[in-house]
Amino acid sequence: MTVRRSTSELTNRGTCEPRNPEPYNGSSLPPLIFRKGLDLKHEVAHVLAESYHSDLVAQIKENGFTHASGRLTVYLAREFGFCYGVDRAVDYAYQTRKRFPDREVYLTGEIIHNPHVNDQLRAQGIRFLSDAGESLDALTPNDVVILPAFGVTVEMLMALDKRGCTLVDTTCGSVLNVWKNVRRYADEGFTSVIHGKYWHEETQATASQAHGKYLVVLDRSEAQIACEYIRDGGDRQAFLDRFASAVSAGFDPDRDLQHIGCANQTTMLSSESLEIGEMFRAAVAERFGESEMAARYRAFDTICSATQDRQDAVIALLAEQQLDLMIVIGGYNSSNTYNLARICAEKLPTFHISEPGGIVSGQEIRHKPVGSKQEVTTGKWLPATGSIRVGLTSGASTPDNLVGAVIQRLDELANDVGGELPIPSRSPAPR
Ligand code: SF4
Repeated sequence: MTVRRSTSELTNRGTCEPRNPEPYNGSSLPPLIFRKGLDLKHEVAHVLAESYHSDLVAQIKENGFTHASGRLTVYLAREFGFCYGVDRAVDYAYQTRKRFPDREVYLTGEIIHNPHVNDQLRAQGIRFLSDAGESLDALTPNDVVILPAFGVTVEMLMALDKRGCTLVDTTCGSVLNVWKNVRRYADEGFTSVIHGKYWHEETQATASQAHGKYLVVLDRSEAQIACEYIRDGGDRQAFLDRFASAVSAGFDPDRDLQHIGCANQTTMLSSESLEIGEMFRAAVAERFGESEMAARYRAFDTICSATQDRQDAVIALLAEQQLDLMIVIGGYNSSNTYNLARICAEKLPTFHISEPGGIVSGQEIRHKPVGSKQEVTTGKWLPATGSIRVGLTSGASTPDNLVGAVIQRLDELANDVGGELPIPSRSPAPR
């Protein structure tokens, strides 16, 4: 039997107990939404292991997160790579393909921000609605659509429901937690101030949960502009021009910055999010007085524990080891990877590469410097003589096999063992 959902059930997922579908007997169309997998975990486990596991990385973990070989020593951060949300999203995507071999399976866009993983899904025939030539309007009730780990906007969800598609929802529980807080702010009449990237899928999805009143601030300097407006007012139009893409429709800074609730994209730099929350707290207190705080200010730290753990681990690694350089692996559009690179770049030469192929040779590395929009090639990046101490971490959307391939490549280059090393294939890196 087909199960239909009400509008509120679709848009208030954070507060509803997720519903498990009926067991699928293969004789009829399955229920329309899957939120707890598709009962095929064991059947796809070996494919996932083949695609993303690394024996070398497993061995290094057992060996105290250190890999010593000739003049090279690699120190892995104690927390790195796939987080629980990504693990689950990728698992569900593989289960979906297995469960619906004869139906078109779509993703709304990248399932996670890792080109290698997205390419692997494409290779299984999963289509991306974000690709040229694809259209949501062409979807039919026979199509299956996977929602990514960072969620989709309420508008997208409603549009998919209207098309009658079967949905496989992999939205991470930590993202749902942010939505819950943002909705609570909205219910209390507060404007959500979201520390995040307004162009990022997760922040767009979170903003759509704010019932129409939100402001997205990217960093301290944008927070400073908003805080000054709270304190002293200012040029309303200049404010709206400055945040044109980062506020809700009809936003009025004179009206909508009087009661605010802070939240953040789950993958931001934790220390910066806390600082921004404190900046807004101070601005509201200065404008309205401490006695008004309970009525005008809310905050809830919504950095996810996986992001926090990876940031803490890399900070610990930098404190514990004398490193020559740091390599951070992850998609260039991965927010959590970028923030790991930011932490490292403050301390030592850091190379954020999107894939093992970024290490072209001991003479050349293709990477994206912190603060740059472009990938660049840097020469003479690896010390040619003497011992080399390399720190390594990877973003929450980077599988272990890529980490293992990077270590193998470093080993080859540092110790000049020669020979071609297998590098997991993918399409060319964006330039
Ligand atoms: S980074 Fe955090 S919020 Fe995002 S998928 Fe992973 S665990 Fe979930």
